[in-house]
Amino acid sequence: MKRRNAIKLLGAGASLLLANGTLGNENPANLANENATNKTPESIENSKANIAIMGAGLGGISLAAKLKRDLPNASISLFDADETFYYQPGFTLIGIGIYDKNDVIFEKAKYIPEGVKWVHSNVAKILPEENALVIENGEKVAYDYLVIASGVEYEFGSIEGLSASMVEDSSSNISSIYTLKGALKTNELMSDFAKNGGKAIFYDQKTAMKCSGANKKMLSMTEDRLRRAGNRQKGEVALYCGGGKLFGNPVYAASMGAIFTKRDIAFNLRHELIKIDGNTAIFKHWTPYKKNGETHKIEDFIEVKFDFLHLSPKQIGSKIIKEAGLSSGEQGFLAVEKERLVSIKFKNIFGIGDICDFPAGKTGASIRKMYPLLSQNIIRSIRGEELLKGFDGYTACPFVTKYGKAIMVEFNWEGTASSLPCFGEVRESYLSWLIKLYGFKPMVMNGMLKGLV
Ligand SMILES: Cc1cc2nc3c(=O)[nH]c(=O)nc-3n(C[C@H](O)[C@H](O)[C@H](O)COP(=O)(O)OP(=O)(O)OC[C@H]3O[C@@H](n4cnc5c(N)ncnc54)[C@H](O)[C@@H]3O)c2cc1C
Repeated sequence: MKRRNAIKLLGAGASLLLANGTLGNENPANLANENATNKTPESIENSKANIAIMGAGLGGISLAAKLKRDLPNASISLFDADETFYYQPGFTLIGIGIYDKNDVIFEKAKYIPEGVKWVHSNVAKILPEENALVIENGEKVAYDYLVIASGVEYEFGSIEGLSASMVEDSSSNISSIYTLKGALKTNELMSDFAKNGGKAIFYDQKTAMKCSGANKKMLSMTEDRLRRAGNRQKGEVALYCGGGKLFGNPVYAASMGAIFTKRDIAFNLRHELIKIDGNTAIFKHWTPYKKNGETHKIEDFIEVKFDFLHLSPKQIGSKIIKEAGLSSGEQGFLAVEKERLVSIKFKNIFGIGDICDFPAGKTGASIRKMYPLLSQNIIRSIRGEELLKGFDGYTACPFVTKYGKAIMVEFNWEGTASSLPCFGEVRESYLSWLIKLYGFKPMVMNGMLKGLV
């Protein structure tokens, strides 16, 4: 066996291990499955429930595939106008020059489960009181159950002087791996920086982000690329965070901080990027202080010149959800009971994936925990049974630190949640790098999208 194939096999094996660790015997959805089928299998087999899923991305398709197995006679429809499925974790590998665009673009049609209807239109409106939605041509479609799986929208324009096109075209030295073109541009800018040096800065939003480590991955890989090119002394690399923490989970925040310090990567907290003016980034910086027991803050403005800027965009939910009265705030994220994934207002509306209104849990790995639970909760709802509390905020994202090394970042709302504790939760390892490179994609494309893992 060739070395490359052996490595792929090892990575795939490790990802299966991860799949077992996180969807193993303690998963409440699996327990529910047993209970559900033992009780009244016929009623579920015959259920003709009409289930609409808004969004055919990772969450929507994985759930549709699982539902089709669990409820073979149900009428399941996926609504989405986008014909392409993007393997988004691969954008990171494009940014660091390992993947090209053909590794992440897939024809959605090939992944729509058999027996599931795909309506090639976006949802324009939700009418929760009428159990109906309206698609783009104005047609009204009734549902018994609605699952919202429409992901996040980006607001690059929330920063003055920045637009979505600027991170993708050649008019600037600014990029973002959050879009495909932005990821391709990142690789070019990173490569130029490794040759020429200068000042590279990286910006993390203070608001909820999917794969919240994505920008920091570009930061550490840029530093590594510069070092490998023999030009470390020619370049300065720094991180600016809009919020007051380096990372949501304190254990991983500490290990990231230690890595950055060791590699002379400056990180600056409480720096909100408010404006870009040519090659200058303007941050609103705030320092909290206490006076008479009350917290106050001093604000000042800091200008930083850059030769390369990489950033994560502000991410919001959907105005459709807000207009339907289903969101928890102005940003249009779906308000759900976070452990049950059901709308706090309507018992026949559920949420899956990035659109849910909790800050952590915006990764594909979170969806792997959500979709079996959601299938079981829809079944329970059909039977009039109490819904399971099964989601714990599980989030996973391999934090690539240098070429050949990654930390398998895994946590939930309680703390760290390592599937491979024997390797050390915060240790950089070659195995975690292999899992990112070779393990995750087959698990997503051949496992999750078929409702299998
Ligand atoms: C750069 C990057 C790196 C990442 N790295 C990792 C990683 O290492 N590990 C990991 O687990 N996760 C990672 N992720 C996160 C992961 O890809 C997402 O969490 C996951 O794709 C979210 O799935 P979703 O179904 O919620 O949304 P999406 O997959 O984004 O799908 C949403 C779908 O809804 C559709 N839609 C939108 N509006 C409407 C509407 N009105 N009507 C109908 N359809 C609509 C869209 O067209 C889209 O097809 C990464 C993401 C990015 C961007």
